Amino acid sequence: MSGFCLQRQGRGWIVAGPNGRALTGVYGDRNLAAVRLGELQDLAETTERRMRRACMCCGREFLSAGIQNRLCAGCRTGTPVEHMPARSRHTAKAGGRT
Ligand SMILES: [Zn+2]
Repeated sequence: MSGFCLQRQGRGWIVAGPNGRALTGVYGDRNLAAVRLGELQDLAETTERRMRRACMCCGREFLSAGIQNRLCAGCRTGTPVEHMPARSRHTAKAGGRT
């Protein structure tokens, strides 16, 4: 769960994070704040799903795009990491940020 919520702020509304910190400016319209809240929740959930996993194939750690993503870029594309261009190889070693 993201833990975001709408909070009354003066005469308007803000979106507050799990720690109660304001994440947005003050919205005069509660609906606008609610829309922004939804966007932030989506973003947080997407970020949560993107996590480091060990590749099911080679065991290398990589940044997964989601729970369905269990293979590193090298195994997914069938290209051994060793044979990738230098820049990609560096990226893969740094955690497979793509
Ligand atoms: Zn792999």
